[in-house]
Amino acid sequence: MNRTVLIAGGGIAGVAAGFAAARAGWQATVFERAAEFSEVGAGVQLGPNVTRILQAWGLCDALNECAAFPSGLHARSLSSGEVLATLPVQDFQTRYGAPYVTLHRADLHGLLLKAAAREGVQVHSHALVQKASQSADEAVLHVMQQGQLLLHTADVAVAADGLWSPLRQQLLGDGLPSFTGHIAYRALLAQADLPLHLRSQDVTVWMGAHAHVVSYPVRGGESLNVVCLTEGRLLDDEANHLQALQTWNAQKSEAQTLAELQHALRGACAPLKDLIGACLDWRLWPLCGRPVMKGANQHAQGRVAWVGDAAHPMLPYLAQGAGMAIEDAQALAAQLLHASSANVPEQLQQFAHARWQRNARVQARAVRNGRIFHASGALRLGRDLGLRLMGARLMDVPWLYGHRQS
Ligand SMILES: Cc1cc2nc3c(=O)[nH]c(=O)nc-3n(C[C@H](O)[C@H](O)[C@H](O)COP(=O)(O)OP(=O)(O)OC[C@H]3O[C@@H](n4cnc5c(N)ncnc54)[C@H](O)[C@@H]3O)c2cc1C
Repeated sequence: MNRTVLIAGGGIAGVAAGFAAARAGWQATVFERAAEFSEVGAGVQLGPNVTRILQAWGLCDALNECAAFPSGLHARSLSSGEVLATLPVQDFQTRYGAPYVTLHRADLHGLLLKAAAREGVQVHSHALVQKASQSADEAVLHVMQQGQLLLHTADVAVAADGLWSPLRQQLLGDGLPSFTGHIAYRALLAQADLPLHLRSQDVTVWMGAHAHVVSYPVRGGESLNVVCLTEGRLLDDEANHLQALQTWNAQKSEAQTLAELQHALRGACAPLKDLIGACLDWRLWPLCGRPVMKGANQHAQGRVAWVGDAAHPMLPYLAQGAGMAIEDAQALAAQLLHASSANVPEQLQQFAHARWQRNARVQARAVRNGRIFHASGALRLGRDLGLRLMGARLMDVPWLYGHRQS
């Protein structure tokens, strides 16, 4: 008899989970509320802990077609432009067995979606999951499709419905995420349109007081993804307006955005100011989050599992949110491989125990990175000195990049 899994949410976590479950011999169905399967946003960086999984999934060629392969990750002072340290990532293939890549989010999502379709995953767009319920024998998703409420049953339900996860709110009841006080402004530039000194095929992080800027190549190096991360407040009505917080594509007026950015980056060096000035179409992304995971019960209960941002939203300062979603998918599939319908709850418990501490550690490290990137005063002097003296050793994260699922 077919073993079946229903997945709420068709972002990177949901599509990766569907694909991995199908590879493990399960019949997977993904429900996405959006009318079209698409992935908004701009770039993502993926460390070797993630590209190793994509390689094992046979997605090397697809990745090679759209990813960029930076040679280094440079930490620079936002004010002077000085390169404080460089982590050479071109040797990650040798050191960690897989490359460090940067790519457009839509390209990553697209290659996972294609792979899922090849594995026979059924994907439904315009399918809003309203509720999940479960009994000892089955999990049920209540899905609004084409104006009708349909009840789908399966052995497992996976909530991959993102940061604002309605299924988390329904089943775990731990409330809504809150605004972190950090705002991301992002833009995408064609490298060909930039003067030579602003083009780059590497990852660069400019660190300043209460703000930093990250840039890296996407679309095989043809475009440059630029993200400015600032500390700020939302207007009261914005903070109270959930929809303003939930969008990835908020646009203020050009003048208002530029004024905010110029204020946040007022001490920036000339090349960085030039780069920011070259970006015209900024999108605003208020960063919201939850406290670090506290236990395995936040990853699975009974026949329902949470993966990706639904389980462990994280600040982007370690560039691992999508990566952890892909690791979740692989770990879930490893448990499902030998599961039968009857022992699903035990297998999901094992998945939860295998994952929650690592996800909590990555969440906590991302918060710590944010403090280090935005340091001022004595902390900043200490950081810069440490980077000059210890360089790559401070920037490398072997426990993260060297991780292999047992
Ligand atoms: C500025 C920034 C930079 C980042 N950079 C990186 C990086 O470099 N590397 C990295 O690994 N990560 C990065 N991340 C994190 C990464 O983007 C997220 O962790 C990842 O996209 C989460 O994927 P997800 O599928 O869990 O959630 P989402 O992408 O939010 O997907 C959830 C999906 O569920 C759907 N959905 C929601 N509710 C329902 C419902 N009721 N019914 C049906 N469907 C529903 C939504 O429409 C959506 O498609 C970054 C994040 C930010 C903000």
